[in-house]
Amino acid sequence: MILDGKHHAQLLLATLKDECASLTKRFERTPSLHVILVGQISSSQIYVGMKEKRAHDIGIKSVVHRLPDTVDEKAVLALISTLNHNQDVDGILVQLPLPAHIDTNNVIESICPQKDVDGLTSINLGRLVRGDEYLIPCTPRGCLHLIHAWKQDISGLHAVVVGRSALVGKSLALLLTGRDATVTLCHSKTINLSAFTRQADIIIAACGVPGLITGNHIKPGACVIDVGINRRPDGTLTGDVDFNTAHPIADAITPVPFGVGPMTVAYLMANTLRAMQQRLNGTMPIPLLH
Ligand code: NAD
Repeated sequence: MILDGKHHAQLLLATLKDECASLTKRFERTPSLHVILVGQISSSQIYVGMKEKRAHDIGIKSVVHRLPDTVDEKAVLALISTLNHNQDVDGILVQLPLPAHIDTNNVIESICPQKDVDGLTSINLGRLVRGDEYLIPCTPRGCLHLIHAWKQDISGLHAVVVGRSALVGKSLALLLTGRDATVTLCHSKTINLSAFTRQADIIIAACGVPGLITGNHIKPGACVIDVGINRRPDGTLTGDVDFNTAHPIADAITPVPFGVGPMTVAYLMANTLRAMQQRLNGTMPIPLLH
């Protein structure tokens, strides 16, 4: 089974479009997503462009704040503070990576948790650790959606996550644990990676190493989710899984592109609508910070 992220994202976006229309009617204004893009990194520009387009498709107002890579941290924090206080702003996302002279953690922490549609503030990550899923990082949520498209009940299955970033690997390990999977978290210092992955019912590759997971790493019948987005010298994209050797062994596998990527963008839209709904309903008892 090919887990077609483009297809699943389209289905989700169709539902979100209806939800967006009903929120617009109920609160008498359009939900809004504000993206802060610092510098000229071409992949970041492409990702932000995709987010803008999807937002537009489903009726979310999208505003991109483009800042030069020479901007200082204070100016970024000041912009976030303004957006935090603007009652018409529902979601704030800072496109990563930021230039080295800006402290990423400072910037993320300054986002009001109620508007943190990437789910990366310590309050939202802390809630996830507690098993209280409020605004969840979009890529892990998208991975989970595709895993459920393969098998609804993953209780007791062994999931091996390769990569331990907060953005992807760690958050996904928490989500899977919350669904009663047994989770092994592997990373760059793991000794004999294939000894772990070969035991897995579900493998999630999120390490940014092209083709690291081959057919030899996979137990027959496993579900393989490839989060990696790596650019080949010719400009085309490839994942962290060697699709040609993995595909015949896996029961289900995501392609790159059009696997996890479209799901990430769709869940950003879902988080924006959820952020609006929960903030305006007052269902998240956290004061507006900063
Ligand atoms: P990161 O660089 O923050 O983390 C990489 C992780 O992989 C680290 O925890 C590291 O320990 C681990 N790792 C590195 N080399 C390894 C190896 N040889 N064996 C085992 N583990 C190894 O990256 P990230 O932000 O988590 O992203 C990972 C990949 O996912 C990248 O290719 C990124 O572009 C991609 N990504 C895709 C999406 C999407 O929407 N599809 C979203 C975010 C990230």
